[in-house]
Amino acid sequence: MKNLFPDDYLNSILDVTPAYLRERGLGGVILDIDNTLIGHNVPDPDERVLALLDEYRREGIGMCVVSNNNGGRVKPFCEKLGVGDFVPNAMKPAARGYRLAAERLGLPPERTAAIGDQIFTDVWGARRAGCYAVLLRPIHKGGEGAFIALKRLCEAPLLKIIKKRFPGR
Ligand SMILES: [Mg+2]
Repeated sequence: MKNLFPDDYLNSILDVTPAYLRERGLGGVILDIDNTLIGHNVPDPDERVLALLDEYRREGIGMCVVSNNNGGRVKPFCEKLGVGDFVPNAMKPAARGYRLAAERLGLPPERTAAIGDQIFTDVWGARRAGCYAVLLRPIHKGGEGAFIALKRLCEAPLLKIIKKRFPGR
């Protein structure tokens, strides 16, 4: 149960600044794609997100995408983002993809921030792997399909507790 609670809950990936990471001793980020870096069914990432990833690069913060999507979808997207490392077909909430990502970043899992928008996928997997789990508000809900809509329904009571734990977010 404790693995369903994130280490932090933030509005947007834009809140995960290099300073935020440094203050917590985190040297790399493990990124979800959909509704974390980009809205569902949107072809291109936001300029501000691209600028943040540039900042990560300048500051030497490693990046690796971990996605349940297949390589055919993940690779071109990572190319657009300029993120060289990715783990497709990760079967999140399995911990394996996160551990693999941390290994590629050359960091122990606890020194990586795993950032995503879904409790039963991103937070659970990240916590099982021992990463610092950051839950984000999804960029926009709706149009996610029936399965994710169902997961969001199940998330609702947990999200209520999480919001209480992180007031003012
Ligand atoms: Mg997502």
